[in-house]
Amino acid sequence: MQQVVIVGAGHGAGQAVATLKQKKYPGKIVLIGEESWLPYQRPPLSKKFLAGEMPAERLYVKPASFYDDPEIDVRLDTRVESVDRDAKHVVTAGGDTVPYTDLILATGSRVRTLDVDGASLNGVLYLRGIDDVEAIRDRLGRADKVVIVGAGYIGLEVAAVARQLGHDVTVLEMADRVMSRVVSEELSAFYQREHAAAGVKLELGTGLEAFTGEGGEVTGVCTSDGTVLPADLVVVGVGILPNVELAAAAGLDVDNGIVVDEACRTTDPHIFAIGDCTSHPSAVYGCRLRLESVQNALEQAKTAAMNICGGDASYDQVPWFWSDQYDLKLQIVGLSQGFDTAVIRGNPADRSFSCAYLRDGRLLAVDAVNAPKDFMQAKALIAAGARPDPERLADASVSLKDLVA
Ligand code: FAD
Repeated sequence: MQQVVIVGAGHGAGQAVATLKQKKYPGKIVLIGEESWLPYQRPPLSKKFLAGEMPAERLYVKPASFYDDPEIDVRLDTRVESVDRDAKHVVTAGGDTVPYTDLILATGSRVRTLDVDGASLNGVLYLRGIDDVEAIRDRLGRADKVVIVGAGYIGLEVAAVARQLGHDVTVLEMADRVMSRVVSEELSAFYQREHAAAGVKLELGTGLEAFTGEGGEVTGVCTSDGTVLPADLVVVGVGILPNVELAAAAGLDVDNGIVVDEACRTTDPHIFAIGDCTSHPSAVYGCRLRLESVQNALEQAKTAAMNICGGDASYDQVPWFWSDQYDLKLQIVGLSQGFDTAVIRGNPADRSFSCAYLRDGRLLAVDAVNAPKDFMQAKALIAAGARPDPERLADASVSLKDLVA
């Protein structure tokens, strides 16, 4: 009897079960996750769910009834400790061995934590899962002053929600502009203006030294310029680390993520890996990528599941992401790293515009702010390696799709 074991019961894992079912996998599917929740979507955690505008059940990738199937065995609150590739089984923290014909590693990522004085005080919180949001919401109910450490997507989304809920919000960021790792200076400047207009205080170019506390509770954040920012709640959003340790201990190749090929296979033909924990080859960008996005997790899940069912699927797509802050929908298609030219289409003052990134004339990525048409049309251009004329690109009255003959 065949058996697929999926380690990690997150977003990608939920999709892998769905595709295996859809493709009529002729065996048992065992889903093992260390969290107490069925597979759920994380993006709303720093958006509508944090704001209290979405119930937990709506986060689920599939309703609970979907797993009510004699061929699906869901084991929550269960951590997998090791993989024995010779015996073809995994071992859980409780000592159970679970055999597999094929294994999918869907272990995701974890937050990068801070190691400074006061880091373990109550009220210094991180955001990765539902339980984290519940702790943040509980604290928000009693907090007046909120300090966010890190001005990436998640930090800024939390800042927007906390400010809209009426809190006093300060964002501390070491770089001299927000989202500096992913967007152009123009985009950063636009978002800085929006946050400032909403009443968020931005401390840019400022490092974190320590947290201060009283009676075990956080009371402030000491910054590199000697200031102490009062805080009843600190939310830290300084990036993630892929969960690759299980794969590395099993002797699989790991290089900034579990190394997989186009089929989402690791260096063991019976072990697949999907989502945040992987590094995959990208023909579009000519390098290996480790992505932190829903699209990547879902598409890799489909690819791995189809291949386990005897298919010949491969994954190589132009990545896309999004971020919701206030009434602004930022949609990002492609990867702008290494760009030499940024072209603004439209007027940021209209709160609907986009920024196209090029390198040596080739379109790498487009960030679209309340501009869904540019977002949708850019994907095909990036995939085709288009080289649009920058002057026409800057003319928002010309559709992106009309730019390349
Ligand atoms: P996950 O969903 O993280 O699932 C991995 C699961 O594996 C976890 O439950 C983990 O506990 C479990 N696990 C790990 N090791 C073990 C083990 N040894 N045994 C058992 N279980 C294990 N992406 C976007 O595209 N757009 C967004 O707007 C966006 N917003 C986000 C907002 C927040 C607050 C967060 C946290 C993420 C956001 N993301 C967003 C990223 C997106 O959610 C992730 O890329 C996606 O969840 C990755 O899916 P995954 O299946 O790889 O991992």
